[in-house]
Amino acid sequence: MTRLPKPQTEEPPAESPRSIGGINIDPVPATDLGKKSVARSLPVHRPPGAIDEFQFLIGCTRCGDCITACPYDAIFKAPDRLGNIASTPIIQADTSACMMCEDFPCIASCKPGVLVESIPPVMGTARVTEHLCLAHHNTTCTVCGERCPVEGAITVADGKPTINEDTCTGCGVCRYVCPAPENAILLMPAFSRPGRPHV
Ligand code: SF4
Ligand code: SF4
Repeated sequence: MTRLPKPQTEEPPAESPRSIGGINIDPVPATDLGKKSVARSLPVHRPPGAIDEFQFLIGCTRCGDCITACPYDAIFKAPDRLGNIASTPIIQADTSACMMCEDFPCIASCKPGVLVESIPPVMGTARVTEHLCLAHHNTTCTVCGERCPVEGAITVADGKPTINEDTCTGCGVCRYVCPAPENAILLMPAFSRPGRPHV
């Protein structure tokens, strides 16, 4: 039997240009899996008055004084699994929301000054997920509007709540009290916060 010659497999040039419908498509470079991506930190739900996250992480001594000072047990130590933010104070509104105390004992207790009174006590913002909200499904429910501790942050019109994002501080009370089977409040921590004020 005559052996057929082995077919010659020609490697396509690495950077071969392609054309689809007359449009030249640049080759996509292979992903370099050895390249490390730049670490990005996710927004963290901090207590009121927390300064810029980078400055906060440098200045916070993880003393826990704000946790002890909070009369509503609204501040928790971040667990070890959260890496570089472990042991720093966080708000977990599903467990206990911030009640926006008038005198902010948490801020007053912070000796290193990473919780400060001179910046707005905005922790984030809340949004109503309408398809989960009882009031948007012909059920009478005004719980979030009644319990919100910030005047003007929630208005109820025609039985339906609307969150005013300019006034909302992201305290999380609405999320904490929402009785819907699947929580209708989406709570987002602030993406950025003002830096340490100059004195
Ligand atoms: S404002 Fe009051 S309830 Fe909120 S975190 Fe500070 S001490 Fe706790
Ligand atoms: S009191 Fe200030 S320094 Fe101490 S854990 Fe709270 S935020 Fe950090």
